[in-house]
Amino acid sequence: MSDETKDCIFCKIIRGEIPSAKVYEDDDVFAFLDLSQVTKGHTLIIPKKHEKDLFHLDPNVAATLFRRVPVIARAIKEAFHPVGMNLLNNNSSLAGQSVFHYHIHLIPRYDENDTFSFQFQPHVDDYSNEQRADIAAAIAEHIKSI
Ligand code: 5GP
Ligand code: ZN
Repeated sequence: MSDETKDCIFCKIIRGEIPSAKVYEDDDVFAFLDLSQVTKGHTLIIPKKHEKDLFHLDPNVAATLFRRVPVIARAIKEAFHPVGMNLLNNNSSLAGQSVFHYHIHLIPRYDENDTFSFQFQPHVDDYSNEQRADIAAAIAEHIKSI
């Protein structure tokens, strides 16, 4: 076992070395309640294969993982009847990541006063169409085969 996997909190949860409130498990994916329960039913969905973030995630692992996401989201909705749901994934500490095993948060939303909020900051729309085309092209040229 690599040091990364041995010391990782989420790998320990998968191995049962740390207890968790399990929502779902199969050969590739594990889902469990976030300890912090930002709102009731706040669930983390993780691949069993340890990858630290989105930049390291194998697309095939991502595909397997994401197939489960709507199914688990619907289960949360049926259990607790939230009005909506935020799907969140933080990558790097700057972006708010605190556990470096890739994970998706499902955060059920109950009303405007529930305990989670997220808003894009108001911003000035200061790119011309030409600049937007340049930005898109700069990204597109780095897209490898999908
Ligand atoms: P991040 O900040 O990396 O996007 O999210 C990590 C999440 O993992 C946090 O919301 C935190 O509450 C949760 N977490 C950290 N340690 C544990 C743990 O031992 N058990 C569970 N169930 N959740 C944890
Ligand atoms: Zn891990």
